[in-house]
Amino acid sequence: MEGCCRGCMPCLKRLWDWIWPELHYPSPTIPEIRTVSGDLRIPAPRKKPVQLYAALFDFEARSEEELSVREGDKLSVIEKRGEYVLAKKLTGTLESGLVPANYVALVQDEFAKYKWYYGNINRQKAEKLLLATQNKPGSFLVRISESHSDEYTISARSDKNVFHFRIHRSTIGAYFVSDKVSFATLDELIRYYQNNPRSLGCPLDQPCVQQRELFDMEPWERPREEFQLSRKLGEGHFGEVWEALWTTKNQRVAIKMLKQEDTKLDEFVKEVHALKNLHHPKLIQLLALCTRGEPVFIITELMTKGSLKSYLATPEGQVLTSAHLIYMACQVAEGMAYLEDRHIVHRDLAARNILVGSELECKVADFGLARIIKDSVYTASRNTKIPVRWTAPEAALHQRFSVKSDVWSFGVLLYEMMSRGKMPYEGKNNKEVLEILASGYRLPSPSRCPPNIYRMMMECWAADGSKRPSFHALHSQLDNIYSRIYYKTIEV
Ligand code: ATP
Repeated sequence: MEGCCRGCMPCLKRLWDWIWPELHYPSPTIPEIRTVSGDLRIPAPRKKPVQLYAALFDFEARSEEELSVREGDKLSVIEKRGEYVLAKKLTGTLESGLVPANYVALVQDEFAKYKWYYGNINRQKAEKLLLATQNKPGSFLVRISESHSDEYTISARSDKNVFHFRIHRSTIGAYFVSDKVSFATLDELIRYYQNNPRSLGCPLDQPCVQQRELFDMEPWERPREEFQLSRKLGEGHFGEVWEALWTTKNQRVAIKMLKQEDTKLDEFVKEVHALKNLHHPKLIQLLALCTRGEPVFIITELMTKGSLKSYLATPEGQVLTSAHLIYMACQVAEGMAYLEDRHIVHRDLAARNILVGSELECKVADFGLARIIKDSVYTASRNTKIPVRWTAPEAALHQRFSVKSDVWSFGVLLYEMMSRGKMPYEGKNNKEVLEILASGYRLPSPSRCPPNIYRMMMECWAADGSKRPSFHALHSQLDNIYSRIYYKTIEV
């Protein structure tokens, strides 16, 4: 210290900087002062330290309020809002908007790149994630401690319990669970306990599997009291389906209720996740969800004539003309063309999964088996239950699903429609169906089926998937035929 004048402000500041080079000289707080003119001067807002966050996963904005982010994007978090954070991008367009809080993590020691790092989630949420069916004993995650934001907690599952271990920081910033052994980085600490499970008393085998879908439901969530059930419409794999009145919107809706079995939760989440991202007038539209409490409700638009399968069996269904049926099939092909463009395979296209509205509008439903495929073929697990009569041989025998296997199913759906609800391959069991298909047999033309529609079915059933038409082609052919019938340029 040179030139000290013992106590003047600049010297005191220099002294402070010399002792605490990392810390900033405390700026004076400006008191609120009423000036002579009576204005109220307010203190300048305190500068908050800028904390750098990173997106852990891709997130697509679903409304104008939300912000789309790509995994690894650097963000500054402006504030926390419930399960969301208001974040601003630090690169590129510098946009801001809401992102689910569990999609972002504070970038400290670059933890964001580790699969086990879950950032800002609380103890309760960590337990819920780890105890979900996707995870098993030995699954673990690391989260920011709720009580000390500069410390972390390991949450690890052992059998049916979750244990939490606080990771402390020493004065020099080292990480430790037990003060007998400390580490320079969090990653080193985790690797140590992975290799020495006895030291922790709980194995850290694999990072918790992320179930982002569970958190993604917030914008669709509605209070259960808003729905008044009126009558049961049917029952499916998940549970009962009811007609209800959405009182606040004065709208009649359909409510699918989830039976309270854990094993169904995964499929339910998949169905909801698929539905949320699909918007097309020919696909059933998700309207809302009640996921808090039980049973869980999935609320969709109401289709008053119910499933096409049951509708075809009614007296009204039995007298539908080919023109009506072609009009309906054309809508299904249009909905499927939308999925085709998005590389989504439905895997369960059949009359039971088409819903019919009062004006014969048709919508594709039941996305429980739907998958987004990156390559052209999706290979399912052997345990997947397959509706053999509707499934292309390569999918039924070798689990090779593709848009082209959906096209095969569309051919079977056309058969169901044109035969006014007949069961395909009636009298044969699944094994026999596969055998006759392998020998080249195909379903015969239903008695009242126009020849051009039967030709279309046969094209859908080409043994070689690449020879089957696209949904776009099927849609335009059906649309063409329908216009020609409508304007009476052809008879059917
Ligand atoms: P699974 O669940 O095994 O695919 P599913 O398609 O029969 O079988 P759900 O989708 O649960 O099962 O539907 C059961 C029945 O409820 C349908 O067959 C249909 O009659 C009726 N239903 C379902 N959704 C609606 C809706 N949005 N509008 C009108 N009726 C519906």
